[in-house]
Amino acid sequence: MGLPAKQRTSRSRRERGSHFALKQTTSAKCSKCGANNLPHCACKACGNYKGRQAIPTAKRAARAARRKKTLGK
Ligand SMILES: [Zn+2]
Repeated sequence: MGLPAKQRTSRSRRERGSHFALKQTTSAKCSKCGANNLPHCACKACGNYKGRQAIPTAKRAARAARRKKTLGK
């Protein structure tokens, strides 16, 4: 296994770690239902994106109900 050639100074360690901070995430509100969602993404609650139905939520709800029925046995 390789070993570091030199001991890193505390300054160089800190400088490397200066890029590790987490960025604040941005969120947008859905224009249809008002739920928080990621910008440039379809709404996870209602499937709306740019005024049109991007995700068929009725189909998804039917599938969830079907799964619940089979798993609930
Ligand atoms: Zn929505």
